[in-house]
Amino acid sequence: MVVSLNHSQMQHGLEMAPSAYENALTQYDRAVNKMNLDENVVEFMRWPQREFTVNFPVRRENGKIEMFTGYRVHHSTVMGPCKGGIRYSTNVTLDEVRALAMLMTWKCSLVGLPYGGAKGGVLVDPKALTLRERESLTRRYASELLPLISPHSDIPAPDMGTGPQEMAWIMDTYSMTVGYAARAVVTGKPINIGGSQGRNEATGRGVIITMGEALNRIGMTNNSNISVVIQGFGNVGSHAASHAHELGFKVVGVSDIDGGLHNENGLDIPAIRQWMDEHNTLAGFKGGDTVTNSELLTLPCDVLIPAAMEGQITEHNASHLRTKLIIEAANGPTTIEADDIINDRGITLVPDILANAGGVIVSYFEWVQGLQEFFWDKEEVFRQLERILVRSYDATVATAEKHNVDLRTAAQMTAIQRVGDALLTRGFYP
Ligand code: NAD
Repeated sequence: MVVSLNHSQMQHGLEMAPSAYENALTQYDRAVNKMNLDENVVEFMRWPQREFTVNFPVRRENGKIEMFTGYRVHHSTVMGPCKGGIRYSTNVTLDEVRALAMLMTWKCSLVGLPYGGAKGGVLVDPKALTLRERESLTRRYASELLPLISPHSDIPAPDMGTGPQEMAWIMDTYSMTVGYAARAVVTGKPINIGGSQGRNEATGRGVIITMGEALNRIGMTNNSNISVVIQGFGNVGSHAASHAHELGFKVVGVSDIDGGLHNENGLDIPAIRQWMDEHNTLAGFKGGDTVTNSELLTLPCDVLIPAAMEGQITEHNASHLRTKLIIEAANGPTTIEADDIINDRGITLVPDILANAGGVIVSYFEWVQGLQEFFWDKEEVFRQLERILVRSYDATVATAEKHNVDLRTAAQMTAIQRVGDALLTRGFYP
């Protein structure tokens, strides 16, 4: 069954939706077309449950008030409270936030977390704010979100442009309102106020765990012979590179926004991380040939890990990739057109909702620790992370084999089926 928007949906404004949400719906349609779902369930899950837009003031250093716009979208509350990051960027749109919220519903469901999907964003260049302005913006945005957020309804986390400090301010704003320290209202907090051990490394580490599962299944088990290229050297890319290096893989290419480095004998990742700590850019590091970001993506390698941003693998470069495996560390790094080329070429692609789920899994551990006021050590966090990711990988492969579909479609089908089943069990209110 092909699902398209009807007239009343268009009147709600979805005909204006630019590509991000349309892409999310295309992926959704591809999955549900292979399934035997109740058509009411299919229709229900196409829609975000709530969308919240706020316009709020921030006093700039020059004394003037500037107005900012922020969003928070709850895609689904079928499986539990909403979970999803908050992004500060000049590209934030309601459409993008809506798409990312839907992706979070499927990601949480796929890895078996008791959450629905959410996402938030503020249209701002965070680098253009002073520390005081950033605190003021974050606290005011958080207070605008008070009708939505709580440990049992909506639990924000960091995303692009936000980090532990913003989560601390949101936790404090909420806590001052309710009158007690409510640790479990956000995840990705600093450890000294209830953050989890291992949260920083979690997404990158999870990327390498799923890479290991994928390699095992194609019989590639000799790590020192396996070459890896990673685009993006931020939180996800740098931790993925370090963990791959620790496990003996040959990381032959890395990049950041300023460009890339290539060494077919393997790059010295600890030295690169130290360089990054000191210079905040890969540029200038000696120990590899410089390449552009587009050259990096087509370097010969066994595994390509896009870990920077969306829309990097497109119909223009997909036929030039020289890799056996793609592990989507970033959200949405591959366009729909590129997906088809990659599938036709027989390249295995591990989709974002599985490959980068390590972050939300350890966020879940942080939430559980906050609710119980009982904290785990890093070994326990990593052991449970691996257990959940391997279980989720196995479930995805089982769906792929049963229905003869690619891993992205299989991951979506697995996730959508669980939410659909839960919806039918709960029923359509009223
Ligand atoms: P980050 O801001 O820490 O790092 C981004 C990296 O990409 C930086 O090295 C930056 O220089 C580089 N970059 C930016 N634009 C680029 C470009 N045009 N070409 C090449 N490199 C570019 O962000 P992050 O937290 O590492 O997130 C990266 C991706 O992973 C995003 O898509 C994010 O949504 C996704 N993700 C992150 C987490 C997490 O826990 N941080 C979890 C799940 C998914």
